[in-house]
Amino acid sequence: MLKKGAVCAVILSLILTVTACGSTKPVTSSFEAMDTLMSLTVYGDESICDAIENRILTLDETLDATDENSELYRLNTKKSATVSTDTADLLSRSLQLCKELDGSFDITVYPAVLAWGFTTGEYRVPDDSELKTLAENIDYTAVSLDGDTASIPENVMLDLGAVAKGYAADESLNILQDSPAQAAVLNLGGTVCLYGKKPDGTRFKVGIADPENPAGYFGYLSCGEGVVATSGGYERYFEKDGVTYIHILDPAAAKPVNNNIRSVTIVCDDGTKADAMSTALFVMGLDKATGYYQNHDGFDFIILTDDNKLYITEGIYNDFTLADGYDFTIEKVGKSSD
Ligand code: AMP
Ligand code: MG
Repeated sequence: MLKKGAVCAVILSLILTVTACGSTKPVTSSFEAMDTLMSLTVYGDESICDAIENRILTLDETLDATDENSELYRLNTKKSATVSTDTADLLSRSLQLCKELDGSFDITVYPAVLAWGFTTGEYRVPDDSELKTLAENIDYTAVSLDGDTASIPENVMLDLGAVAKGYAADESLNILQDSPAQAAVLNLGGTVCLYGKKPDGTRFKVGIADPENPAGYFGYLSCGEGVVATSGGYERYFEKDGVTYIHILDPAAAKPVNNNIRSVTIVCDDGTKADAMSTALFVMGLDKATGYYQNHDGFDFIILTDDNKLYITEGIYNDFTLADGYDFTIEKVGKSSD
């Protein structure tokens, strides 16, 4: 079943296709992968578009923890397995990111994701003792990767859902860089990958989804090459007894994050990092995310909070335009804390 974000992805792709139009007619393709609808616009041969689509479909087959035929499912079940270069690469990158992001991104959240029902839609609220046990078993340092052999303890399971689309973006960029394509806009459902120079010479324009109405955009970002990844509670959530539970979990508590953040957008050259960070900064909350930005280089963010405030880092502040009809307050986040 497609996420709500899928509809939004189609409309975004239409906007991007229109704004990416130049003198050369691009090749386009839409397909379902990684639980969302993806759409590719490539200024180049159809074979390049096909190669990207096939690469993403292969990654999906390998990395989908819910698919009984996937490598990740096999590892989660058997607890030790020889894995492909793709899985080993992404696991090694993810473990590094778990460390850098200080545990707010943790690929061992899967048992908690299952317990809350986010993979099946059979939602439930685990009781405190169940949550305590789940939280005790969330620990990325327990994962071992030795060459192409990955192992996890009995009570641990892996979820690469927070980085798979970003990794797919990086792998697509590799294909584009080795090809004669002039430009490409790849909408991988919440993760947008931008490559090259548009035929008309203008910059790319990426719409940022409005959490209230994910088919619409609260604003637009003018971008060069790179990846724009957004995480939002609106992508998957359920309500019980007046409380909303979202699919982004705080690894320390094994519980859905409940802070005042609506969405986090990360702009970064590295897709895997952009995707991990959109999830992690959501978990961190505004203050910690701001501190993280001030101490680390190589990315920018747009954070939307419950009270319709936008916090935009200085590297992209001037590239953002609020859409008509939105009166969000915008605050610039600088590199230094004064
Ligand atoms: P994203 O949409 O990129 O933010 O990824 C969210 C997905 O990643 C969820 O649906 C879960 O499968 C998984 N996930 C949730 N919370 C975390 C977390 N703190 N660290 C790593 N993966 C997570
Ligand atoms: Mg992510």
